[in-house]
Amino acid sequence: MNQIAVIGGGTMGRGIAYTAALSGFEVILQDISEEAIGNAREYIENLLNKNVTKGYIESLQAEEAKKNLSYATNLQEAVRKTDLVIEAALETMEIKINIFKQLDEFAPAHAILATNTSTMSPSEIAACTKRPDQCIAMHFFNPVHRMKLIEIIRGLDTSDSTVEVVKQVAEKMGKETVEVNEFPGFVTSRMNCLIGNEAMNMLMEGVASVEDIDKALKLGLNHPMGPLDLADLVGLDSRLRNMEYLYHHLGEKYRPSPILVKYVKAGRLGRKSGRGFYDYTNK
Ligand code: NAD
Repeated sequence: MNQIAVIGGGTMGRGIAYTAALSGFEVILQDISEEAIGNAREYIENLLNKNVTKGYIESLQAEEAKKNLSYATNLQEAVRKTDLVIEAALETMEIKINIFKQLDEFAPAHAILATNTSTMSPSEIAACTKRPDQCIAMHFFNPVHRMKLIEIIRGLDTSDSTVEVVKQVAEKMGKETVEVNEFPGFVTSRMNCLIGNEAMNMLMEGVASVEDIDKALKLGLNHPMGPLDLADLVGLDSRLRNMEYLYHHLGEKYRPSPILVKYVKAGRLGRKSGRGFYDYTNK
């Protein structure tokens, strides 16, 4: 396992590429958008430099990581010699299936195809390929370089050896894994979406302010981050897609909070757009 192709250079793709390159993998980060690739490269290089300055990594490690990284907009080129693909494009089944069909066609026969979906069925995604035994979900967390866990979700046909290989990759990236049976939202997204949604409903009902809801969960329930702060970090558009999938598959309990829908429609997407539940424009 030498070469990893990461598909999608947004919040998660760039974090996965950073962590994989720093762990010694050769990484190609692909996105259909030139602008996203430019932003991802800038983010990764800034993060490497910042972490050298802070003494978290050696400058030699940062240099190696930069050498390990390349960037592409052409998917066929990006996956031509890859051993593992980690797809981190948008959370819609249509996009994921479209990407997996191409991965199946262009990636080498031995390559494992993983999705970083937060909620969706890896079996359904794998069904559009001729290698469902080599398809799996690897659910990373944001920010990838700091979060310890990868949830591993096996689809109906995922082979034991595929599970073993992705666990080894996770270990080489310095991560812990949990193996979860396929069910919408797995363990973490299902739980986290509910907590976040309840916080949004409380805000809408006027129970407390944004700051006080977050403070209550941090200091009263010992959460490391408030749920509204976390939703801003995740991206409110990504969170809404997760809620819609869970609502569709698991029912009323997961109906997206109207305030979440309203913010996304207004373009308030959290940190990535400069404004969500908090304002980041002066930070
Ligand atoms: P994002 O919106 O930040 O980035 C998505 C990127 O995918 C964009 O740069 C877009 O240009 C690119 N893209 C869209 N269609 C593409 C295609 N056909 N081929 C290549 N690239 C394409 O989204 P994100 O938050 O990084 O989420 C990506 C995936 O990771 C989703 O499945 C999401 O559910 C999952 N996820 C997100 C988080 C989080 O905290 N944001 C955490 C865990 C998992």
